[in-house]
Amino acid sequence: MIWLAFGILLTWAGLGQGRPEERWWKGNLHTHSFWSDGDEFPEMVADWYREHGYHFLTLSDHNVLSVGEKWIKVGGDALLRYEAKFGKDWVEARRGEVRLKTFDEVRSRVEERDRFLMMPSEEITGRSGDGRDIHMNATNLGEVLPVEVGGTLADTIVRNQQAVMASAKRTGRPVMFHVNHPNYKWGVSADALAAVADLQFVEIWNGVDNDNDPGDATHISSEAMWDVANALRMTQYGRGPLYGLATDDAHDHQPGKTRAIPGRAWVMVKARFLSTESLLNAMSSGEFYASSGVRLKDVRFDREARRLDLAIEGVAGEKFVTKFVGVKKGGKAGVVLAEVAGTNPSYAMRGDELYVRAVVSSSLTPEVPSQEDPYQRAWTQPVGWR
Ligand SMILES: [Zn+2]
Ligand SMILES: [Zn+2]
Repeated sequence: MIWLAFGILLTWAGLGQGRPEERWWKGNLHTHSFWSDGDEFPEMVADWYREHGYHFLTLSDHNVLSVGEKWIKVGGDALLRYEAKFGKDWVEARRGEVRLKTFDEVRSRVEERDRFLMMPSEEITGRSGDGRDIHMNATNLGEVLPVEVGGTLADTIVRNQQAVMASAKRTGRPVMFHVNHPNYKWGVSADALAAVADLQFVEIWNGVDNDNDPGDATHISSEAMWDVANALRMTQYGRGPLYGLATDDAHDHQPGKTRAIPGRAWVMVKARFLSTESLLNAMSSGEFYASSGVRLKDVRFDREARRLDLAIEGVAGEKFVTKFVGVKKGGKAGVVLAEVAGTNPSYAMRGDELYVRAVVSSSLTPEVPSQEDPYQRAWTQPVGWR
């Protein structure tokens, strides 16, 4: 009896070891598979991310969730590689077609506690009444939502955002809504990003080549648009700033492709648990950074001293330059407030900034190279605005 009680006590103690420390979780919030225009089976995509050290992944195919029965024809070596990886028993084929596994089936094969988490997502894809291309991701969405078309770009974002939030309420699920690749087909404007009251997230770096993240002679970069939108939000609308995401938007998983391949861009989220609720709550509070390679040990804003401190994790020979970017009071765009070398850059606010954020550049090229940026970066979220 005593031993039995002791065993129960041990089990109880094992489950309730106190709150785990906050830590960084690496994830990608934007990926495609055969469920829409990606070129790979969803569990092969998930397996790639898990094997490459990611902790969470959303499958975000265009205007679908990975549910229902769908059979596809598969060309090339994709089927052979799929069978080799998951086994012939797992693969369901008939008369030259293969059944795509649903989100829940994929999740059952790849998820692992405290190691790898999947979240469903829909890339709500459409065009506003006035002809602007607009794509929006709804992470952890519980039902497929049709794209809502408004007369203008801002109206279209508002309608879709409201539909997503109504679904979140109806289904009792936390759902994260974000605007994708704003410069793709030059679809999204800073004005629209500023005008949507409850918008919280926008992609400021998307891994797809030729989606115009750097801007061109007549368009500002996605990152610069972020500051213009935030200046407008804070000065004209009295709203908090948007948080910036980096994502892969991977479509091209087969060998030999380069345009939209996995491993270019991700977020690092500071949270206690690898759970949907914990991750989405942390991101909603700005407890994350976007990255295309640079790793941060710590990002800390001291509210008393009004100082932003970073601790950067480097390898031998790697050099870093951190630009502290902000919008000055009365300003309409981001400016470089300070540039600091080394692994412990710091910026104390002077009082004339609406907010400050940091973008760290490494001397190293990204592990998965991109045509749009030769260096590894990390982008932290705006602070000092409350
Ligand atoms: Zn898209
Ligand atoms: Zn996409």
